Amino acid sequence: MSHPTPIPHWIDGRRRPGASGRTQPVTNPATGAVTGRVALASAADVDAAVQAAAAAWPAWADTPPVRRARVLFRFLELLHRHHDELARAITAEHGKTLADARGEVQRGIEIVEFACGIPQLLKGAYTEQVGGGIDNWTLRQPLGVVAGVTPFNFPAMVPMWMFPLALACGNTFVLKPSPLDPTPSILLAELLREAGLPDGVFNVVQGDREAVEALLVHPQVAALSFVGSTAVARQLYATGAAHGKRVQALGGAKNHMVVMPDADLEQAVDALIGAAFGSAGERCMAISVGVLVGDVAERILPALEARTRALKVRDGLDPQAEMGPIVSAAARQRIVELIDSGVAEGARLVVDGRAFDPAQAGPGCAGGFWLGGTLFDHVQPHMRIWREEIFGPVLSCVRVATLSEAVELIHRHAYGNGVACFTRDGHTAREFARRVQVGMVGINVPIPVPMAWHGFGGWKASLFGDLHVYGEEGVRFYTRQKSVMQRWPESTPQGPSFVMPTNP
Ligand code: NAD
Repeated sequence: MSHPTPIPHWIDGRRRPGASGRTQPVTNPATGAVTGRVALASAADVDAAVQAAAAAWPAWADTPPVRRARVLFRFLELLHRHHDELARAITAEHGKTLADARGEVQRGIEIVEFACGIPQLLKGAYTEQVGGGIDNWTLRQPLGVVAGVTPFNFPAMVPMWMFPLALACGNTFVLKPSPLDPTPSILLAELLREAGLPDGVFNVVQGDREAVEALLVHPQVAALSFVGSTAVARQLYATGAAHGKRVQALGGAKNHMVVMPDADLEQAVDALIGAAFGSAGERCMAISVGVLVGDVAERILPALEARTRALKVRDGLDPQAEMGPIVSAAARQRIVELIDSGVAEGARLVVDGRAFDPAQAGPGCAGGFWLGGTLFDHVQPHMRIWREEIFGPVLSCVRVATLSEAVELIHRHAYGNGVACFTRDGHTAREFARRVQVGMVGINVPIPVPMAWHGFGGWKASLFGDLHVYGEEGVRFYTRQKSVMQRWPESTPQGPSFVMPTNP
């Protein structure tokens, strides 16, 4: 077996091993082989990255937006050129299929395309003659050093939800990726340098909780974007705010898809299967609950069962693969325990993914972290498999009688990230979209991830903070408003004024 590759930090424009001496193995989840060892930053390593970012900030903030955009245009070209290499790095450490990894890179590219328009996005507002001889305008300025803490499930796209806009707005950035799949972050850093980004403007600290805690209390970090599980998001939001930072913290999800009796049921089955089992269900926008209204359950369960059994669960590099492995042995174990709990609590296990034989996944896969697709019927709201985020290839079906019952069920859930409704009726669709207490809604679209210029974010326990990531809300998050009121008086003195200036 080849020697594990060291995966370093990226500080001040170069790879750095870090001073902590701590590392963690990085595994190919398809085979279980240890392929790398990632450095785990100490507070001193984090400080080195923040100092590099702080030193680079004044010059970068002073760089005209149009020139910052030109760096991003070059980065965009390089992303296209290295699209496949990035996708392969994702599949090697995350396990998702190569086609899905390519899609992930593409959605990240779209945020960079949006960020290239930064001169237009930063244009302020101007009012001439708000009072005699006085003009008022507002502009947005960067915050300084900002940080991003990202999850394992999109090791390239989620960082790209953050840093292209943060950099375009004139901030410098410290990224703390997931230690489970850290290599894409270093590839992105190298492409940014090749694109001409000055050293220190973008930095990566690899690591775990210790690195995050150091970023959270660092006095020179002005803002922090987080994407990950809700327990961490909630904690991070509170601690960051207590340390005077602007924080947006996106958390977990439990996304429901309502299927109405008038829906195109073939389309609905395709949508449920793809959205539940794509990327092994390890997507914050995965559909994990099918809400089957009226007689829909009887009409689609045979097809759902057959399709779940027929899923092509293979090594992500196999072009036939529809679903790859689970990211780690620990994640697999957690999913298995949740499936066990569903059985114990009385849900009907229609297809049992625990029984999947890794030998079917391909040569060399015996040591990997495999599960097949799992399908439950008759899931009830008191069960853990409804209440908790499983983040694995498990689709739980709940039967309800009416649309209002479906909306009420969704309303009761703690999370509010994404939701979908499949119907052919415009009024049903409109009412659903208006009433549902969820941040991102799909009508006959199972995974309604907003485009780069619309912004992404859930409601309730899926987001702490008020601004969503990317889109115009992203620009607002990474800048602060300044208002300038200006008068160039004639040189004749008029004496002091002691009353509030008004405009009668
Ligand atoms: P996670 O919360 O375990 O880790 C996220 C990041 O936080 C990682 O960088 C990790 O190293 C760090 N971290 C973990 N524990 C920490 C702690 N106690 N203190 C400080 N930092 C800590 O999440 P994950 O398992 O990597 O990702 C899966 C989760 O992310 C799921 O809950 C999923 O729904 C969520 N997610 C949400 C969105 C969204 O947009 N809402 C998008 C993707 C993933």
